[in-house]
Amino acid sequence: MTSTAIVRFRRDLRLHDNPTLVAASDADRLLPVYVVDPRRVGEQAYGGPDSFRYQRTGGHRARFLRESLSDLRERLREHGSDLLVRRGRPADVLPEIADAVDADVLHEQALPTTEERETGAAVGDALAADGVARRTHWTHTLHHPDDLPVHPTVIDDTFTPFRERVEAESTGRDPVPTPDLPPLPDQLPEAGEIPEPLGSVPEASADGRGVLPFRGGESRALARVEEYLWTGDHLREYKETRNGLVGADYSAKFSPWLAAGCLSPRYVASEVDRYEAERVANDSTYWLVFELRWRDFFQFQFLQHGSQQFRREGIRNRTDLDWRWDETAFRRWADGETGVPFVDAAMRELAATGYTSNRARQNAASLLANDLRLDWRRGAAHFERLLVDYDPASNYGNWAYIAGVGNDSRDRAFDVLSQGERYDSDAAFVTRWCPELADLTAVAPDYAREPWTAPREALVEAGVELGVDYPRPMAGLDDRYESIP
Ligand SMILES: Cc1cc2nc3c(=O)[nH]c(=O)nc-3n(C[C@H](O)[C@H](O)[C@H](O)COP(=O)(O)OP(=O)(O)OC[C@H]3O[C@@H](n4cnc5c(N)ncnc54)[C@H](O)[C@@H]3O)c2cc1C
Repeated sequence: MTSTAIVRFRRDLRLHDNPTLVAASDADRLLPVYVVDPRRVGEQAYGGPDSFRYQRTGGHRARFLRESLSDLRERLREHGSDLLVRRGRPADVLPEIADAVDADVLHEQALPTTEERETGAAVGDALAADGVARRTHWTHTLHHPDDLPVHPTVIDDTFTPFRERVEAESTGRDPVPTPDLPPLPDQLPEAGEIPEPLGSVPEASADGRGVLPFRGGESRALARVEEYLWTGDHLREYKETRNGLVGADYSAKFSPWLAAGCLSPRYVASEVDRYEAERVANDSTYWLVFELRWRDFFQFQFLQHGSQQFRREGIRNRTDLDWRWDETAFRRWADGETGVPFVDAAMRELAATGYTSNRARQNAASLLANDLRLDWRRGAAHFERLLVDYDPASNYGNWAYIAGVGNDSRDRAFDVLSQGERYDSDAAFVTRWCPELADLTAVAPDYAREPWTAPREALVEAGVELGVDYPRPMAGLDDRYESIP
C-alpha cells in the first residue's frame, strides 16, 4: 500500500540538515506544508496576570519570513517537490489537508516553548481523531537533548556549569544530508499563494544604515556562512570584534536565519570544524560555538521551566521586585527618545532594521529594566515584535536574565554610560542613529554620548539645543544624567 506523509515546516525552513524532512522522506508520497498561524502575526494579549496587548510580528520579520518561504518553495521545486501554504490555525488546517491527500502521518519539528508545544499537541489531537499519526523531531539546537549529560529538564540553571559539562561529556551529531524527496501525492490541493504581507502590518524594506539587508531563506543563509567564514575570513578575529556596533562583519549575523531555521547550528559548527582544519583554530573559532551553546542553553531552559519563563517574577519567582507601568516613559524608550544616546541609537536601529547588536540589546534592556524599572515584559514584547531574529527562548531568556529574574542570580545591571564609553568611544554608533548629534561628535565624542555634560559653548558650536534638537535624559535615571549647571 502507498504511504503518504506530510512534513509541516515550522522554525526549520531548510533542506540541509533537516532530520524531520529525512524521516518524512521514508514515505512513498510526501507533501511539504507551511501554515501561517494568524495568532502569530497579528495583535495578541501577552497573557497571565497584568496582561497587555501587542503586535507580535513587525514588518522586518514579516518580510524575512515571506522571503524564507519563497526560497523554501523554490528549493523544494528544484528537488521535484513543492510547498503548500495555508493560513489558519494548524489544528484546523492540517487535518483538512491530511484528509485531502489521505495522509498516514505528519512529521514536524518539536519546539521547547509553551505556545509552540500547545499548538503541536492540538495538531496531534486533531489528527489522531482522524487516525493520522504525528511524529516530532528535535532539530534546532547544536546538541540534541538525548546527547546532554543530564536530561534537559534537570540541567543547571546557570550557563557556565551547563557549558562545562556539555563540553566535557557531550558529543555533537553530524548534519544529515538532504534526502531524495518522494513525489507529491496525486490528489494535490492548490499550492496556495504565499501571503504578502504575511501579517497585519506592512512589510518593512531594508534601511541602508543597517548592518546587513537580511534577506530571508536558506540560500541567503548558506551564502552568509560562506561570506563570513570563507570569503571574508572574519571568523579568525570573531572574539575580538564581536562586541562591535557598526558594520556587517563584527559578528556572524547568523541569528535571523538560525531563528527561522533557514540555517542549522550543526551545519555552522561543522563549517567551524572545517575552518579550524583548513585555516586556523583559535579562541575566536571556539567562541562562535560557545555562543551557539548559549543559544542551546536558553532552549533547554524553556523546556525545563515552561511558561514560568514569561512571568514577570521569572523562574526565580522574584516577588520582591517592584516594576513600574508608565506608558509615556515606555514610549520614550521604545521610540529611542530617552535622551541617552547609546540606548536611543540601539532602539532606533532596532526599529529601522529589525536588528541591533548584542551589546546594544543588553544596554537597552538594562536601561528599561534596571534603571527605569519599567516592566521588563513590555520591553521583551517590544523586541519580539521588532526583531528580525526573534526567537522566544533567546529573547525572553536574555531579557529575564538582564532583569534579574532569570538564569543566574548575579546582578546583571549594565552601567550604560561606561558601556557607551568603552564600546562606542568614537561615538560612531551614536552618530549613525542620532544624526542630530553628529556635529557634537565632531567637537568631542564624549559630548555626543553624554550631551547633558557638554558645556554651553560646545552645544552652541554644534547647533544642538537640548530638549529641542535632542531630548534631555528622561526622569527616573540617576544623578549622573543631570546637566552641568
Ligand atoms: C535583550 C536581548 C534579547 C535578545 N533576543 C534575541 C532573539 O530574539 N533571538 C536571537 O537569536 N538572539 C537574541 N539575543 C541574543 C543576541 O543578541 C543575538 O543572538 C546576536 O546579537 C545575534 O547577532 P549575531 O548572529 O551576529 O551573533 P554572534 O555574536 O555572531 O553569535 C552567533 C550566534 O550565537 C547565538 N547567540 C549569541 N549570543 C547569544 C545569546 N546571548 N543568547 C542566545 N543566543 C546567542 C545566536 O544564534 C547568534 O547568531 C538577545 C540578546 C539580548 C541581550
